Amino acid sequence: SKQIRSNSTSHVRVVVRVRPFLPSELESKDKGPVPCISVLNADSDPGREKKSPRNECYKLDSFFSQENGLDSIFHGEVSNLISGVFKGSNATVFAYGATGSGKTYTMQGTDRQPGLIPLSMSRILSSCESSGSSIEIAYYEVYLDRCYDLLEPKAKEVMVLEDKDGQVQMKGLSRVTVRSMPEFSQIFASGVQRRKIAHTGLNDVSSRSHGVLSIIVSSGGAVGKLNLIDLAGNEDNRRTGNEGIRLLESAKINQSLFALSNVIYALNNNEPRIPYRESKLTRILQDSLGGRANPMSYHEAVHTVSLAARSRHI
Ligand code: ADP
Ligand code: MG
Repeated sequence: SKQIRSNSTSHVRVVVRVRPFLPSELESKDKGPVPCISVLNADSDPGREKKSPRNECYKLDSFFSQENGLDSIFHGEVSNLISGVFKGSNATVFAYGATGSGKTYTMQGTDRQPGLIPLSMSRILSSCESSGSSIEIAYYEVYLDRCYDLLEPKAKEVMVLEDKDGQVQMKGLSRVTVRSMPEFSQIFASGVQRRKIAHTGLNDVSSRSHGVLSIIVSSGGAVGKLNLIDLAGNEDNRRTGNEGIRLLESAKINQSLFALSNVIYALNNNEPRIPYRESKLTRILQDSLGGRANPMSYHEAVHTVSLAARSRHI
């Protein structure tokens, strides 16, 4: 929380979404206390921030309660990024939170309630029709600090290399042209399926990897990119009692989330050195989080902080 502090002049917006209790949680006798989340305006006095052991205090740009649907998050936080992407900007939306807090639900949604990914795609496709732009997607995951192409039949590993100008390249990462929503839904669904069964073939490991969907928009000479990222769940090993490969996964997940929060913190504070090199995830996202700039473009990122509606998940 300390690391992920927003600031009104920064490029990073921090937004919290609270999900409702699930039926199983309502039945459970073991109901934790509902957290008190203090929402401060981005421009309020930082001196007023308090921190006590039980009630964390977060400084947020926006807050969405259980009554707010995916549509309102899309319109409030994401749709304005899309016009920038058509002008050649890169933007990134992260879903961050513990496993079970609603990251995948928020990004993917359900058949009846489309999430931020289908809502963004559909907006981009309709803007393309009027502007004659073309759209490609890439979809990959970062698992144990390695990248896998989710648009390839066996989720082939992709090497992350730096060219002589220091630009990070993902060698051989597939890009697929998308022309319609049904086409997108089919391609994306097969990628989601690969993310579920890759690596172990055993239980659902999708929440142990970071899933990155990049939507690349080429219009005229401008190429912009929107990254929609379902981050791995941050877990407390002391609570989950992880062992073996699970413990290694958790260590890598926590390390990369920590590196990401350090990058966001440095960007928010306009620090001269941004620590992109600390993890695979931040290296890959370097061109989308700020810093290296085509001076004609600006960079934005939305950091979506999903908190479980129970204080012990925070
Ligand atoms: P995560 O990806 O963070 O591990 P999920 O998105 O899988 O969590 O959500 C966990 C469970 O909570 C799922 O059963 C999902 O359907 C449900 N859920 C999450 N967010 C909401 C919401 N806003 N409204 C209703 N159910 C939700
Ligand atoms: Mg998930």
